[in-house]
Formats: sequence, C-alpha cells, structure tokens
Amino acid sequence: MTDHVLVINAGSSSLKYSLIDAKSGTAAASGLVERIGEDESRHVHHGPDGDAETTRPIADHEDALRGALDAFESHGPSLDGLELAAVGHRVVHGGSLFGAPALIDDKLIAAVTDLVPLAPLHNPANLEGIEVARRLFPDLPQVAVFDTAFHQTLPEHAYTYAVPLAWRDEHGVRRYGFHGTSHAFVSAEAARLLGREPAEVNVIVLHLGNGCSVSAVRGGQSVETSMGLTPLEGLVMGTRSGDLDPAVPAYLERELGLTATEVDKQLNSASGLKGLAGANDFREVTRRRDAGDPGAVLAFDVYCHRIRKYVGAYYAVLGTVDAIVFTAGVGEHSAVVRAAALSGLEQLGITVDDDLNSSSSTDARRISPDGSRVAVLVVPTNEEWQIAREALAVVRT
Ligand code: ADP
Repeated sequence: MTDHVLVINAGSSSLKYSLIDAKSGTAAASGLVERIGEDESRHVHHGPDGDAETTRPIADHEDALRGALDAFESHGPSLDGLELAAVGHRVVHGGSLFGAPALIDDKLIAAVTDLVPLAPLHNPANLEGIEVARRLFPDLPQVAVFDTAFHQTLPEHAYTYAVPLAWRDEHGVRRYGFHGTSHAFVSAEAARLLGREPAEVNVIVLHLGNGCSVSAVRGGQSVETSMGLTPLEGLVMGTRSGDLDPAVPAYLERELGLTATEVDKQLNSASGLKGLAGANDFREVTRRRDAGDPGAVLAFDVYCHRIRKYVGAYYAVLGTVDAIVFTAGVGEHSAVVRAAALSGLEQLGITVDDDLNSSSSTDARRISPDGSRVAVLVVPTNEEWQIAREALAVVRT
C-alpha cells in the first residue's frame, strides 16, 4: 500500500479533491467541480499533463465524484494500481465530540448529523461527500478531519461565553473555532522554520483568506481562537463582519423590522470588506484603495486595526510569543497588510523588515529582522496535506 490519500472537501455546490502523498505532501493531481446542480457545472482537473476543463450539467455530488474518477482515468494519474491508503474528508463542525480525526463509520455519521444545527450549510454537504465516497470506494478506510478539532484544547475559560447555563448546557452555545487544520499545519511549520519543536514555542497564527481567523498556540496546542460558535466571530473577513455588539440584531429588528435570520444572512454575506468597500476580493480592495476610494481606504484600516487588536490580546493570553505567522491568500500575498497590521508594535518586540516583507518568494520565510525578539513569518498553508497526514495517521495506528 502507498501513502497516497484522496482528500475530499465537499461544499454545498462544489467538490474539491486532491490526490496527495501524505509523507511528502506532493499532490499528484487535484480538481474542483463547481456549480453542482446547475446546467453549466464546471470541472477542472489538474493532472500530470496539465489542466483539463469540462462544462456539463452535473446533477449531484455522486455525479461530481464519478466525473473526478473519470478524469483520473483519462488525464491521470490512474487510481487503478495506485493503492490508496485512505480517503480523507474535511468536515467543518465536530462540536465538542471530536478533538481528533476519526475513522468514519455509521456512528460517526450519526454524530456529524446531530451536529448539523451548529453548521447548517457545511455539515450536510460534508456528509454528502462522505456518503458518495463510501459508495464509490467501499473497501477503503475513510477518515473525517474536523475544522474544529485543533481548537478542542481551548481551556474552559477561553471557550465559555458568559450566557445562561441552559444555552450552554443544552444547546452547545460556546466557542468552537474553525480553520483548525490550517492553524495546526501552520503552527507546526512555524516551529520547524524556527528550528524548534512545536512543544517548545508559542505562536500567534493569522489565517487571512476569504474567511479570517487568528489563534494563540502554546506548545503546539490551541489555547485561544477568534471564531466562535460559528465562523462569523472575530476578524473582518471577505463578506463577514467579525466582531460586533451582540445588541445589533435586536436594534435592526426594532429599526428595520429585520428578523434575526435576515440579519445573520447579511452579517455573513454582505458585510466585512464587501460591506465596507463594495468588494470582497482583497486584490480588488487594494486596487480601489490605491486609487483613493474612501470606502476601500476605510475597509483596509478597519481590517488591519482588527488584526492588530487581536495580536495584542493574544500576546497577553500567551505571555511570551516566539512567532507571529501570516498565512492564506491575503496573509501570504499582501505585504501592505502585514506591515500595516503590525506597525507600532516595536515595544512588544514585533518588527517587520521592509525588504524581507516585500520579497516575492512564495516559500515559508521570516520577514522580521535578524535578532528581533518575536519572529514574524509567512508560511503558506496546506490544508489538504494536513488532512492527508492526519488521515494516514488514523489508518496506520
Ligand atoms: P479561501 O478562504 O477561500 O481558501 P484564500 O486563502 O485563497 O481563500 O484567500 C483568498 C483571498 O486572498 C482573496 O481575498 C484574494 O483576493 C486574496 N489574495 C490572493 N492573492 C492576493 C494578492 N496577491 N494580494 C492580495 N490579496 C490576495
């Protein structure tokens, strides 16, 4: 048997897949099926000979995964003969039940189904991906890797909201945190870059993608994170507001007659950079800011101010910080965000070197000057590899 794992990330109308060597991290192929259920579904397969794109109606996730398997056969690499070790599934919400990846069986499926109220958009899609993969690969072990699992080490005082006992005890109202797979991967890579063991270092990880979250990782364990019951809390994101006064929904109900559900929808899809600058793609926000658009200037300032506030807070949570790490689309590529978010923190030992910060390297690297007390790092995230590694570890134990 090889160390290859097929990693599947099923969304409500999309399916992403990667064939990964879990030991080396090499992706032999990957692909994306979008607009599942529509007339013009799109499937792109990145194989050894380049990209193959098809557009056809793809009815459901089974149709999508069958299309992916066909693409492996026609464009490579062939899965026949390549003995897969496992299928690894990204599952968004594991609630308080899953602090580690787990082998998928009927009991796990029932537990993830019970968690649907906590992640009504994500868990049903993840379950759909699991059901389909179990049908198409009945003989392979399947492993669920949860977005929330890495944050299950948060201490009680960090994950508890100050709300009535019944909400907490009977309805699971607490902080769970998300992007855990990325925070786990990036914090371990940061330790490696510092030449130390994860158990020896304290790091603050800033995952800045379409969704944004920050975590405080002490000795390899997450002790605080910015996303909460849902991925809405915390930093300013592409379309999500992040933190706001919990009284805002009731105020909007009184003033505008909006229901809590309507407010929730707008806080998730019409807020954040989109609400402030009219665009959620950070490259577009940057273009508009450079052109002097006042909404984009404000959006950038609010975005960076929120990051700086969390860095200060998590510094206090950790007491000592060895590294601050930027990752994901904005974190890996936007030197202006990295410089602006950490400006003025020299008294905390945090400095960004302009030349190192503006380098076009895409490797994991240090961007703070030699000898500075806190290392500032850029580390490309690789959630697929982390899922493959965790899945392999489960099936090899
Ligand atoms: P997701 O959360 O969907 O995985 P990504 O981690 O790919 O998202 O991040 C997407 C975000 O990264 C988008 O807002 C995009 O504009 C931003 N981004 C990508 N490349 C750059 C760049 N060169 N400069 C600034 N922002 C970038």
